[in-house]
Amino acid sequence: GAKADGRRTYRFFEAGMDQRAKARRSLELELRQAITDGSLETYYQPVLNIEDGKISSCEALLRWRHRERGMISPAEFIPIAEDSGLINELGQWVLNAACAEAVNWPAHVRVAVNISPVQFRSQSLSLNVAAALAASGLPASRLELEITEAVLIRDDAALDALHQLRKLGVRIALDDFGTGYSSLSYLQRFPFDKIKIDRSFIKDIAGPGASSSIVQAVVNIAAASDMMTTAEGVETEQQRNLLYILGCTEMQGYLFSPAISAADVRRLLLSHRARAMSAA
Ligand code: C2E
Ligand code: MG
Ligand code: MG
Ligand code: MG
Repeated sequence: GAKADGRRTYRFFEAGMDQRAKARRSLELELRQAITDGSLETYYQPVLNIEDGKISSCEALLRWRHRERGMISPAEFIPIAEDSGLINELGQWVLNAACAEAVNWPAHVRVAVNISPVQFRSQSLSLNVAAALAASGLPASRLELEITEAVLIRDDAALDALHQLRKLGVRIALDDFGTGYSSLSYLQRFPFDKIKIDRSFIKDIAGPGASSSIVQAVVNIAAASDMMTTAEGVETEQQRNLLYILGCTEMQGYLFSPAISAADVRRLLLSHRARAMSAA
């Protein structure tokens, strides 16, 4: 009867939960190991000045080459690291790796590092950032930290933390703008150097919807407050041309390059191609 079926479904559900919890737990253990066994690697995606096509910075993006499962996306393992508290260790590892790599780049090229909201709330973030800079010798002005709107909810604490980081001399970018809870008024209240406009708006920018007006509004507000704007996920020439017309300052996306290995970035930065991509 229905009751028996219900019970059976419930038991299946429980077993499924158990399996998933176990899989998660083992991934967590493997991730802990990955930090030290060399299967984690930071890739870097170039960010270009839209006007002259020069590379202004590169964003560090984590890659995990799992022995059996192949490449695991950060979208999958970052949340696990956040839930387990492993994100602080992982985040520090990325910070150190990115700063150590960026000292090899031409002096005008910055490195951008994603900071999880969990890391952002940790009391020791500014100390950890200072430690990564000291260990690598990278000037603070060449490090950019990317935070998401989620950290801004706890208004006062977030503002304090941002000012602390600012005192170090690093730059702060607001990542994935438009996907979170923030309003345009946040842009004026918090000391950002850069707004990264989420890919979802760039994707539809040439279409009939409101995307291009939204991008225009963000670009205008940013410009009025001396902030730069980076368009995320630029994949076509048409998108780039529109962004150029709208006054967006930087772009990042598959049109120019996906995230590539540290060795490939070094080659790219040395090569002529880095400067050869001309403006619209
Ligand atoms: P994000 O910081 O917004 O990074 C941009 C993501 O968009 C990257 O995905 C990048 O590979 C992808 N992307 C760039 N250009 C294009 C494009 O033209 N088209 C499309 N479809 N995608 C594009 P990825 O590397 O898979 O990273 C996903 C997210 O994982 C990142 O989003 C970031 O939130 C997080 N993440 C990655 N590395 C780290 C890290 O070291 N620490 C933390 N806390 N989060 C990280
Ligand atoms: Mg980012
Ligand atoms: Mg982003
Ligand atoms: Mg995004």
